[in-house]
Amino acid sequence: MFHNPQLRKDKLDRQKNIAILGSTGSIGTQALEVIRGNEELFRPFLLTAQSNADLLIAQALQFDPAYVIICDKSKQQYIKDALTGTKVQVLSGIEAITEMVTHPEINMVLTAMVGFSGLEPTIAAIQAGKEIALANKETLVVAGELITALAKKHNVKILPVDSEHSAIFQCLAGEEDNAIEKIILTASGGPFRGKTLEFLSTVLREDALKHPNWVMGAKITIDSASLMNKGLEVIEAKWLFGLKTEQIDVIVHPQSIVHSMVQFQDGSIKAQMGLPDMKLPIQYAFAYPQRLKNNFKRFDFVSYPNLTFEKPDIKTFRNLALAFDALNKGGNMPCIINAANEIAVSGFLNGHIGFLAMSDLIETCMQKITFVNEPSLDDYLSTDKETRAFAQNLIQKMPLKALHI
Ligand code: NDP
Ligand code: MG
Repeated sequence: MFHNPQLRKDKLDRQKNIAILGSTGSIGTQALEVIRGNEELFRPFLLTAQSNADLLIAQALQFDPAYVIICDKSKQQYIKDALTGTKVQVLSGIEAITEMVTHPEINMVLTAMVGFSGLEPTIAAIQAGKEIALANKETLVVAGELITALAKKHNVKILPVDSEHSAIFQCLAGEEDNAIEKIILTASGGPFRGKTLEFLSTVLREDALKHPNWVMGAKITIDSASLMNKGLEVIEAKWLFGLKTEQIDVIVHPQSIVHSMVQFQDGSIKAQMGLPDMKLPIQYAFAYPQRLKNNFKRFDFVSYPNLTFEKPDIKTFRNLALAFDALNKGGNMPCIINAANEIAVSGFLNGHIGFLAMSDLIETCMQKITFVNEPSLDDYLSTDKETRAFAQNLIQKMPLKALHI
């Protein structure tokens, strides 16, 4: 038992080298804040971005990583010029990420890029035996069976960063031999909680991007508004915690204070609570199994006398029901809904389709794309490709529904 905080820190026997995939995003920048508060424990060894060269440069100058990678190859020289005189090596292309995550000096990989792009780097990192701090839920949605089997084979821990899954993971600490009756995933309900289909038929991108409790990247913010985020999280939870579909409940909790719960076989329920702040689950994954002292704002019960809970409205927010359908169907169906959803969200963000058309598009893809019962990695890659092409084509044919964007 450790009671002296300094002793706890010394227990981490050396600085952990962390690769942050997607360092310029919402999770990535918060991960760097966590590291800034614990520089003796963690070092950002590798930072990556899709195209935000200026922020990547600023992060490299501040944190002195060994490597930075920009996926957009046209920006590599610009970054190299800006980092002249430093020891930071500048690489480019998504394939460089998949290659560099295996670097022998990396201990942990934080997967904080968006969507399907996280899959191949995560596989490479697991095969190289790196601990995974998993924010990129889409990886588990697309290929949960493959990823969890691979992690088992390579004896790799997958530490959840998603706040609900971190909450469940924290509730399960010390309960290794106790059977889970069910888990209860909480959902904020997003900006459109309680709204009707009629209301949703005219909502704009700007409305959907206003999340009541969390500031996040655009894709997950739209997913939260459509409840697809919760659907993806149900699938993520199945694989992370080895659950059956009927063991996963979703409950709407608009205050986002109870981050999720576990009910054990004796009926006892454990909850993990706190103010909505992703730095906490990020820090927990980085330092697991330790809890590090910090000065994040504390939750105060008196300021929240009403914590409320209600059933999700899956008739209006069909994406959650579609995700459950995909989970029950299995095979490559979750990969299909993930790809269809990525195209639907970008179609909505670009103003090509309306909010409700996202579910129509996803459902059509679920009906039309080739079903594979026991997919291999190649099957996932081709399903993703086929679904994207099909969904893009459908969008071209849809009437322009979104207004004034
Ligand atoms: P952001 O959009 O804020 O950031 C995404 C990051 O990934 C950026 O660094 C971006 O680079 C990079 N990126 C985007 N697309 C690609 C691509 N195709 N290939 C390589 N890199 C790419 O996203 P979030 O931080 O919000 O989310 C990241 C992941 O974490 C998602 O899977 C999300 O579901 C999950 N998550 C996020 C939470 C949150 O609070 N934000 C909570 C729980 C989970 P650039 O900046 O150059 O575009
Ligand atoms: Mg979440």
